[in-house]
Amino acid sequence: MTIAQQKVVTIHYKVVDVDSGEVIDSSEGGQPMTYLHGAQNIIPGLEAALEGKSVGDELEVTIAPEDAYGEYSDERVQKVPMEAFQGVEKVEPGMAFTAQTEHGPINLIVTEVDEAVVTVDANHPLAGKSLQFSVKVESVRDASEEELTHGHVHGEGGHQH
Ligand code: ZN
Repeated sequence: MTIAQQKVVTIHYKVVDVDSGEVIDSSEGGQPMTYLHGAQNIIPGLEAALEGKSVGDELEVTIAPEDAYGEYSDERVQKVPMEAFQGVEKVEPGMAFTAQTEHGPINLIVTEVDEAVVTVDANHPLAGKSLQFSVKVESVRDASEEELTHGHVHGEGGHQH
């Protein structure tokens, strides 16, 4: 069985930041990742690279930011007044917040703290990065009707509900 739309795919993977050589994430020694192919469960570049692969296949693929977590945008960096953080005991660089906006919740990371002004960055932490994936395909199966309706995998490695 090869990887195509509506297949449930399990992979072992390692992700490396191409510029720094740093390992960002790896399933080595842990649980492999299971996802529903064609449902945008994973980044587009990786989904495209896995299309047509079979169990046992190994691949190495370098994915540009636009096919991974997007380009880094300066417009997503904003300065907000300290008053916006009422109820937070101490605002420090590196803290993550979820802000409610008219477009839904977005994740922010505090990058700089002045006395009255806090700089927050809404870019994905991996935005602007080229990523190298090393992947091994562990299993491929048909998705159930329920999984297709939900747009994600159930059972082992998936949503438990
Ligand atoms: Zn579900």
